[in-house]
Parts: sequence; structure tokens; C-alpha cells
Amino acid sequence: MITVLAVDVGGTNIRLAIVSDKGEILEAVSTPAHFSKRNISAEELLSTLASAFLDFLDNKANVAAIGIGFPGFFLGNSGVLSSSPNLPLLKEVDLGKAFSNTLELPVVVQNDALCAAIGEHRFGAGMGRPNMIHITLGTGIGAGLILNYLPYTGEDGTAMEFGHLCINPDDHARVCGCGNTGCLEAYASASAVVSQFEEKSGIRMEAKEIYQHSLNGNKQAKEILLTAGAYLGAAIAEVVKILDIRYITISGGLSGAWPILYPILMKHLNSRVIPPLKGKITVVRSQLDDNSGLLGAAALAFNINQDFLK
Ligand SMILES: [Zn+2]
Repeated sequence: MITVLAVDVGGTNIRLAIVSDKGEILEAVSTPAHFSKRNISAEELLSTLASAFLDFLDNKANVAAIGIGFPGFFLGNSGVLSSSPNLPLLKEVDLGKAFSNTLELPVVVQNDALCAAIGEHRFGAGMGRPNMIHITLGTGIGAGLILNYLPYTGEDGTAMEFGHLCINPDDHARVCGCGNTGCLEAYASASAVVSQFEEKSGIRMEAKEIYQHSLNGNKQAKEILLTAGAYLGAAIAEVVKILDIRYITISGGLSGAWPILYPILMKHLNSRVIPPLKGKITVVRSQLDDNSGLLGAAALAFNINQDFLK
């Protein structure tokens, strides 16, 4: 059986999996990312990741190619990283070619959120849809667009920076990691929920614990999650007005709070879209157990010799 190595590079962990062409994850590991410091050089990043890949690939035959989802902006499907917001020293790095030379296998590298959209479109809730948007609610908020069955990157890979839509123009709005204020990510990412709860209660706990607290009647926890859901619905409404896309999928840690997020999200979405779109937008939670990014990277690896996913 022909398989590929799929990789999802996150801020704290690197996930690696052997995936079949049917999208089955045959074997997977998660290893701590040792490059979470911001000042990592391209050489250091490449050698750290390449050795993690080689350790995992040891003695595995039939791996035909490698697909990598990476947090950064890529020039089309070239594998060239133009920049990465959290790793500022990395600019214009041909990650695809560098990994391919070291690992002696064809390698494709693409934006992590776009990989998640591709995974959802190929193997998840978006299967068969001509157009869809996938949103990831994790440490940050990412999104990927599938347009006419194909992934859309924009001119230089910065399309769909959904987490940085301004949903609160107030001067005192929360500050985002991008340097602006009032971004969706500053309210509705898992880390934003964690910091808001800590600011209000003095207690730091994970997003899933905050969700549990809200179910148990904690008003502060519930209010933070309801605000996150309301802003998320408002942001989706703005995107829908531009693109007229009717199908949205959502994954990531905070999507675990779905029973609280979903009703208020839909309420704010439907109250803000233009009349022809009211009641026409479907928003569903991913059923891929947060593997959409890995599966999208695998889909790209299987299509490596073709022009994107045509
Ligand atoms: Zn921002």
C-alpha cells in the first residue's frame, strides 16, 4: 500500500502520521516542538523538523511523499514560505526544496489552516462541496477557503486571515498577537478564552475546563464563551457577505464548547447577513477529531505532481 507522511506543525507540538490514500491514519505520534522560541533561524528549524521526520520514518517503507502543514504564508503551492507571524526570522525560505533535499522524498508544504480546509473538504464534513470555508479555533484562529473545488491562497498566501478580522473597533478593545486591537482572535480563540477567564477570576485553566465551569453555572465562564460565539457569528456574517459561501465547518480546541457557541453564533450570523442569505448558511462542527490539518497535508502529498488539487 502506498502511503504518505503527513505533518501538522503547531506552536507547541508537531504531529506526524502515516496516512493512506483513503485518508486512514495508520500510525501517528505527537512530539513537543522545540522551536517555540521566536528567534529560531531557518537552518535550526529545518534541522529540528527534519530529524523529527527521520526518527518517525525510520524503517517505514512505501512512504511516497511528505505533506506538511506549517503556520505561515506560502507563495501559491511552491513550498516557499514568504513569512511566519510567530517566527519572524523566517522569510522567503524554500521549505519544500530544503526538506526534499534532506529527506530524499518529494515534499509539499502549505499553510496549516488551508491544510485543515483541504482535509475537511477531502475527507470530512465538506466532502463534495464546491465552495466552503473551514475555521480552526485553536491557540489562534485560522481559516481556509475552498473555491470551485480548489484551495485558494490569495496573491502571496495571506488570504483568509479570518482571526484578524476586526470585530470590535472600540479604542479599548483587546490587543491581538498581530499588534492590532479588536481582532476576532483576541476574543474567540482558545487562548483568548483562557486569558479572559484568568483576568476576570484570577484563575488560569484550560479552555475545556472553562467550558465545564460554564455548564456548571459559572457566570463568568459562560459570558466569555457567549461573547466568543457572538463575535464568531458576526465575523462569519461579514465573510459570507463578501463571498456568498453557504457552508462553514469549524474545528479546533474551542469547538469542544459547541453546545454554547453554536446557538449564539447562528443567532448573530443570521441577524447580520443580508436578507437573501438569512437562514441559508450552514455551520457544522468537524467530525475529524482535529485531524483535518494532517489529512489535508496528506491529500497534498498524494497530489504532489499535480497543479495543486486539480
Ligand atoms: Zn490580529
